[in-house]
Amino acid sequence: MSELKIKKIGVLTSGGDAPGMNAAIRALVRAGIREGYEMYGVRRGYKGLLEGDIIPLGTRDVSEIIHRGGTILMTARSKEFVDKEGQEKAKEIMKVYELDALVVIGGDGSFRGAYALSKLGIPVIGIPGTIDNDVSCTDYCIGFDTAMNTALEAIDKIRDTASSHERCSVIEVMGREAGYIAMNVGMACGAEVILIPEVKYSLEKDVYRIILEGRNVGKHHYIVIVAEGAGDAPEIAKKIEEFTGIETRTTVLGYVQRGGSPTVKDRIAASMMGIKAIDCIANGKTNRLIVEQGGEIKDIDIKKGMAMKKTIAAETLKENLRLF
Ligand code: ATP
Repeated sequence: MSELKIKKIGVLTSGGDAPGMNAAIRALVRAGIREGYEMYGVRRGYKGLLEGDIIPLGTRDVSEIIHRGGTILMTARSKEFVDKEGQEKAKEIMKVYELDALVVIGGDGSFRGAYALSKLGIPVIGIPGTIDNDVSCTDYCIGFDTAMNTALEAIDKIRDTASSHERCSVIEVMGREAGYIAMNVGMACGAEVILIPEVKYSLEKDVYRIILEGRNVGKHHYIVIVAEGAGDAPEIAKKIEEFTGIETRTTVLGYVQRGGSPTVKDRIAASMMGIKAIDCIANGKTNRLIVEQGGEIKDIDIKKGMAMKKTIAAETLKENLRLF
């Protein structure tokens, strides 16, 4: 809780961009103005904060953005900000611009940055926005649903051609440290194999054998979903082809998964989280993280939130893979 009377609120987007960040900015700015705050946008994340790249944001400045992917405030990664000196400098810049509080929309790393600022006495609020959905304290992060649907649409198309040619398709989806996209998209497209960084696997038992068992019961195509952090997709494809003799192709979906117009789920989650952030500030609650838990939008203490751990339901994964 802050004793300070907050008048001016800054908002920044940080880390990887995620569809729905704009909807969160829009809700935050409009709800903030409605509550009587002056709203400011910090462009290019913590990097822009250190450079004083700060602009006023009015109600009309956030028009026509609810449906747009990316972030109108742009995003960046900043090494300088990770050090204490960088954070002290950010505090000074906020003083110069008379910003009383900062709302950070981003992933785990961005929240660590916000937590560091809170320890320097700056009132902060975090809104989870990352397509990886890997922020521990929340069930949901803005951008996840859109990214999954974008990946699924591409995979369905690859599946049509894989089926016609009786091929195996190895498809790499985003997720360097977390397999949430891979797991959900894999289940949704009926993949034979899903490889995620959280679960150890053996190529022989968990990949080749499954594909061969599929072939033996009459399957004509095989989909292997690989999260970025679970292995080298082209290398895995090469080994599958060598071992099974089945023609195997690789597709790396890459940045296509980040862009695009946010889904209904992302627009609503983002809007509700933006409103909740202003609600917290208006009620004197700062140093909070806005989260979705059990389908409800809530706020939790930043220190508690940062200490939480999230685990992936690996057993569900295994159950769902044996449906052929
Ligand atoms: P995504 O999940 O999309 O990658 P993220 O928020 O986790 O998003 P990061 O690159 O990890 O993305 O973090 C964004 C920025 O937050 C970093 O560039 C850095 O400036 C800041 N940051 C990250 N970790 C810390 C930390 N431990 N202390 C202070 N600041 C940090």
